[in-house]
Amino acid sequence: MSEMQFCYHCRFHHPKTQMRRYLTKQGYRWRCTRSIQAARQSLGMREEFGRFQTEVNRAEARRKAQYIHVQRAVQRD
Ligand SMILES: [Zn+2]
Repeated sequence: MSEMQFCYHCRFHHPKTQMRRYLTKQGYRWRCTRSIQAARQSLGMREEFGRFQTEVNRAEARRKAQYIHVQRAVQRD
């Protein structure tokens, strides 16, 4: 049986081959590569969503600006 190491993230013991030392606010802790990768992926998805949201806001602002422009043009006539 392979050596086990306590994973602070899962609060579970994993085989030591799946463990990496991970820097936290409390110093180095052992954490499994799977949880590190999962965290990285969700971070990437958040960034992706943030970019999408920015694009939506930009499009909305453009649409509003155009609408105001049209309204002003109508009032002038
Ligand atoms: Zn783990």
